[in-house]
Amino acid sequence: MPLPQEATPSYDLIGVGFGPSNLALAIALDELKTTSTRPLNVVFYEKQKQFNWHSNTLTPQSKMQISFLKDLVSLRNPTSPFSFINYLHQKDRLVEFINLGQFHPSRLEYNDYLKWVSAHFSERCIYGEQALRVEPQIGKTGEIELLDVISRDCHGQQQTRQTKSLVLSLGGTPRIPSAFMLTEDNPRVFHHCTYLHSLQRFSHTHGHPGRIAVIGAGQSAAEAFIDLHDRFPSAHIDLIIRGSSLKPSDQSPFVNEIFAPRYTDFIYNKSVTEREKLISEFNNTNYSVIDIDLIERIYSILYHQQVAGEHRYTLLKHCSTEHTRHTEDSVALLIQNHSTGESLTKEYDLTVLATGYERSSHREALAPLADYLGDFKTTRNYRLETDKRLKSAIYLQGFNESSHGLSDSLLSILPFRAQEIAKELYEYALERPECQTIASV
Ligand SMILES: Cc1cc2nc3c(=O)[nH]c(=O)nc-3n(C[C@H](O)[C@H](O)[C@H](O)COP(=O)(O)OP(=O)(O)OC[C@H]3O[C@@H](n4cnc5c(N)ncnc54)[C@H](O)[C@@H]3O)c2cc1C
Repeated sequence: MPLPQEATPSYDLIGVGFGPSNLALAIALDELKTTSTRPLNVVFYEKQKQFNWHSNTLTPQSKMQISFLKDLVSLRNPTSPFSFINYLHQKDRLVEFINLGQFHPSRLEYNDYLKWVSAHFSERCIYGEQALRVEPQIGKTGEIELLDVISRDCHGQQQTRQTKSLVLSLGGTPRIPSAFMLTEDNPRVFHHCTYLHSLQRFSHTHGHPGRIAVIGAGQSAAEAFIDLHDRFPSAHIDLIIRGSSLKPSDQSPFVNEIFAPRYTDFIYNKSVTEREKLISEFNNTNYSVIDIDLIERIYSILYHQQVAGEHRYTLLKHCSTEHTRHTEDSVALLIQNHSTGESLTKEYDLTVLATGYERSSHREALAPLADYLGDFKTTRNYRLETDKRLKSAIYLQGFNESSHGLSDSLLSILPFRAQEIAKELYEYALERPECQTIASV
């Protein structure tokens, strides 16, 4: 039956973001469908025009930092058709993949796997749709059973759809150090999240860069340094780091147990102080650390230039950028050395900010609900603890590191987290009347 013109489309669930977290949720919801009295009306919004997983960072040396067996579903349901192994089988590459003898596929291949999964759920996702904010529908009693999700579609038009429950899986937002200001009209400075696109844009208008700064001491900085070295063999590249050394990520087996699904219970049940201590103890599994093979490549590049008597590559340790000056032909960085107290100004054609990500966009999206939300604490099953008046269920994926541990922003617990949330979503939706207006996606 066609909808009346003015009807606001209504859903059991709107999921915002269609990255790995909500993709895993789509699989889990699909599995539970068979045991439920009715399916849920679900729609996902994705602001990109098509599925892509960190596509601007997919350089030839970018590899997964997690085993392919920790895909979207296998840890929970190894017989799922959405496993990485089934993907390889469908693509007729299973034998060759086995011959590679590797647990860590390239990120290019993993992106292709995720795209392949997303294609199975394409009718449930609106691409090019950016959620702007979530507003309460306050009923006569003051209670909120429905939320309005305001979004902007790919034509720039605002849309409103209402939902009983919401899952925000927005990922990280690029962290830009205060000395930098990124502007559309300056192709010389960019964050690593736009690396390939920005590099292509720069090369198109300015040719090959001769002087490059890479800022950061993590995996992205190392990948960029090596990619720039391979791409522009005559460029001078400075790797500028705050610390005293490039450090390896700890992927040893005992430490890796912190990414086991059962570890989430362990950490969630600790006090705030104990959690902080544990997270800081294992920070070197994820933050400002680099795969050992990339560290060895960078060391070897620096060593070989000594042999050749060249001075093209420098690791600037203990350094931070305090100020920048943009000119037509370069960006000048005022660099402070915190060990010697000296400062120097260096000019670059290009500066890559591999400075990590922040996780606060959920707070902006939910700002209109601030009166009901307190301090964004979540239950063990990732539901926001809200004021009693707010009945709608709101779940967060990727914003719970301080309560659920370091795996929260990564891929390792996705199959279990998705199932925990999906079960509650079914229970919640089935306790309430079915949506009356169902929009076609
Ligand atoms: C370069 C890079 C490599 C990584 N490699 C690994 C790895 O090897 N192993 C690992 O465990 N983790 C890795 N990570 C961590 C990463 O966070 C996870 O791999 C994974 O991307 C988390 O999935 P997600 O869906 O929560 O977030 P994301 O993958 O970031 O997806 C969020 C999605 O939401 C969309 N979105 C955001 N805001 C809106 C909005 N308002 N409206 C609509 N859509 C929106 C975004 O476009 C995006 O597609 C890596 C991260 C980066 C940046």
